[in-house]
Amino acid sequence: MTPSQFRTVVGSPAVRSTVAGIFAAIAISSVVARGQDSPTPPSPPVAELALLNGKILTLDRERPQAEALAIRGDRIAAVGTNDAIREHVGESTRVIDLQGRLAIPGFIEGHGHFIALGRMKLDVDLSACKSWDEVIARVAEAAADKKRYPRGRWIVGRGWHQAKWTAPPQPNVEGYPTHAKLSQATPANPVLLVHGTGHMTMVNAKAMQLAGISNNTRDPKGGRVLRDKDGLPTGALRENAVSVVDRAFDREQARRTKAERDEERRKAIRLASDECLRLGVTSFQDAGSSLGEIETFRELAGTAGLPIRLWVMTNDGDGAIAANLSRYRIRRHADAHLTVGGIKRMLDGALGTHGAWLLAPYDDLPQSVGHNVTSVESLRASAKLALRLEWQLCVHAIGDRANREVLDVFASAMRNRLPASDDNQRDLRWRIEHAQHLHDDDVPRFAELGVIASMQACHATSDGPFVVARLGHRRAQRGAYVWQTLLKHRAMVINGTDAPVEPLNPIDCFYASVTRRMPDGGTFFPEQCMTREQALISYTRDAAYAAFEDDIKGSLAEGKLADVVVLSEGIMTVADEKIRDARVDYTIVGGKILYERAENRDE
Ligand SMILES: [Zn+2]
Repeated sequence: MTPSQFRTVVGSPAVRSTVAGIFAAIAISSVVARGQDSPTPPSPPVAELALLNGKILTLDRERPQAEALAIRGDRIAAVGTNDAIREHVGESTRVIDLQGRLAIPGFIEGHGHFIALGRMKLDVDLSACKSWDEVIARVAEAAADKKRYPRGRWIVGRGWHQAKWTAPPQPNVEGYPTHAKLSQATPANPVLLVHGTGHMTMVNAKAMQLAGISNNTRDPKGGRVLRDKDGLPTGALRENAVSVVDRAFDREQARRTKAERDEERRKAIRLASDECLRLGVTSFQDAGSSLGEIETFRELAGTAGLPIRLWVMTNDGDGAIAANLSRYRIRRHADAHLTVGGIKRMLDGALGTHGAWLLAPYDDLPQSVGHNVTSVESLRASAKLALRLEWQLCVHAIGDRANREVLDVFASAMRNRLPASDDNQRDLRWRIEHAQHLHDDDVPRFAELGVIASMQACHATSDGPFVVARLGHRRAQRGAYVWQTLLKHRAMVINGTDAPVEPLNPIDCFYASVTRRMPDGGTFFPEQCMTREQALISYTRDAAYAAFEDDIKGSLAEGKLADVVVLSEGIMTVADEKIRDARVDYTIVGGKILYERAENRDE
């Protein structure tokens, strides 16, 4: 399908329908038929939007399924049978006949990077490249556009991943490419290519020159400058080593005007919002934004510039947070379009780049147990701050060692909390982001401590092809992406994509959750698949819980926010291989239809 087949209908009038007139007539005649002598029950207020004849999975425990629902303002006015909901239909009501289609609560992306998702569309997208040569070709093509990239302007590319290429790059160091060919192709511009995981960057000679990276550059704490056999930097910078080149990049950015930078940020936010609406994502849990970015969110929240709902973790330092508290204190701003609710910290890197912090060395890199990128001591300080602010602490941990350390920090923070009781300890809803690889002993601790496992099903299937190489069969089977084991231990598992690390599409991720089928056709330890119901809950009701938003969203019930998605296929019942054919027909946020697929516009 081409992008032109879609349209986003922000701000379009929701009031139109001849069908509505018919239903209004039915509603009026039924009132008249009740007769004069018995007191007429007051008719319910007229809905602005009604969905009829559907299969509505509400995820509301009281009424899990319904045929219809009525919306007034930004809330659900009623959920029930077609007959009951017709009572709410008036002349001005827009009625959508679902014709048996499935409607569910809007998808809640549990962990993604909102601005980066939009930026990805402004920078050079390398995620589809199948080789290092193809990466170089794409970057060279961009560099040829001298209007966009005049001499000296940084070229940023994103999404390359050597494990997804058809063959290892030649030459390579530890499987990662070296800069020589890239530098030859792009002599006039500094180039910075962010790995698909975000945990490594490849740079060219010009970028190294500007960043001052030479043979003598030492490895920073928690990072590594990869070198060839002669000790020369290869251009691959792992984990914290990226910061040197980031500083050089920031220096160039600082030379641009504030207006230019703001404009670019707004553009990225708009692009990310469009992507969400097209894919049925009505809420997005942003895994790390700065105060400056949060200020832009605040300005735009609830407008056409940012029409979906954001729940944000800030990745600013403890000092900055403590010093600017009143500016970060944003809760349900602009009709619940923006909340800042958590502190984001990172304890280790990613498995794909050998950065995940393991209890025992990598099978395919025996000299390494990965990287601890933030000290455990400083994580303890952040835990104290989170307790003081009554914010959630959300810590990126991928390797089993990193997960254990985070659970230890969480446990001790909870113990020292006053007044200590079981209940208030549980209701912190602190989160481990990714929780990809766990030691057996640590699995039960998630439920015991009430820690939420914020996992991304699509990571399991896209990492799957190299996980066994990194961890060996036994470790991978026992501990990698063990959703079902966690659920059996009564932990809460929520879902998401880490977009733009993986594509944002929640239906593809739902498919990954229930099949664990990899792109090569293999299945990654299928015993850990979620059931369809578990997968849907992880993307809606439980995701809302994981942000203290379950009182207003994540299920469809009277009084909750009218965030609803209508799908073209019944993803809960069709054959596995049909799930990914499902398209989003409508995305409704706060009662407004903000996206409507072209095919169903003339109903
Ligand atoms: Zn992330």
